[in-house]
Amino acid sequence: MTIFSTKHLVPDCRLDGTIYSGHFSALGDGIYHGQLVTDQFCDLILDRVKQHENPGAKDLYKRANSMHQEAILVDQLGLGPLIQAFSNFFLKDIASELLPDVYLPPLDGIHSYIVRYSKSLDHDLGFHVDDSFLTINLCLNDSFKGSELVFEGTRCPCHIETPAADSERTCVVHKRGYIVFHHGKNRHYVRGIVDGERYNLIIWCQNNAEYSRWFDASRTRACLDFCNYSS
Ligand SMILES: [Zn+2]
Repeated sequence: MTIFSTKHLVPDCRLDGTIYSGHFSALGDGIYHGQLVTDQFCDLILDRVKQHENPGAKDLYKRANSMHQEAILVDQLGLGPLIQAFSNFFLKDIASELLPDVYLPPLDGIHSYIVRYSKSLDHDLGFHVDDSFLTINLCLNDSFKGSELVFEGTRCPCHIETPAADSERTCVVHKRGYIVFHHGKNRHYVRGIVDGERYNLIIWCQNNAEYSRWFDASRTRACLDFCNYSS
């Protein structure tokens, strides 16, 4: 079993354990982007994906969530413990330095999967929010064009269809080894891929109380504290 360790982090992360968060730039509305992991870490995951893509493995298929036809659960790749350890590290050493406490309830569990975009796999992804309080999204490869991730601002269930302010619109161009992380309820979509294939590791960080709060608000139509809607 592969254990997550600092050898999976880009070299200058090792100089001072307290400066991991310095690798990220703020792109607005609680969205951060930066290089954190090595190419070897990306390849370790990609190698498992490639093994899984062998025709013989097709029968083992289970769709990771309703949004993606072509997503693969990390548990199916035997990478559950590695990704759980990485998520624990990420929340403790990076997210906690950059995001306000209110955005970071205790981690009760993760749902993690690989998304694959190409002209023959998922081509794009429609406007949605994630089933998470925080989403970590790592790009695993290069050599693709298009497929940018576009954000449109954080909303409660009641204001989910409201327009985005110009300041809320943020476009992220994926780069191998770079992570974008964001509040799970920051609405987003993926533009169509133009060329090549893009593989990303997605981690939904989940908290049971936040999950209930979201569904209660859907029923009561009460606005939640993280909602950025202003009329
Ligand atoms: Zn609201």
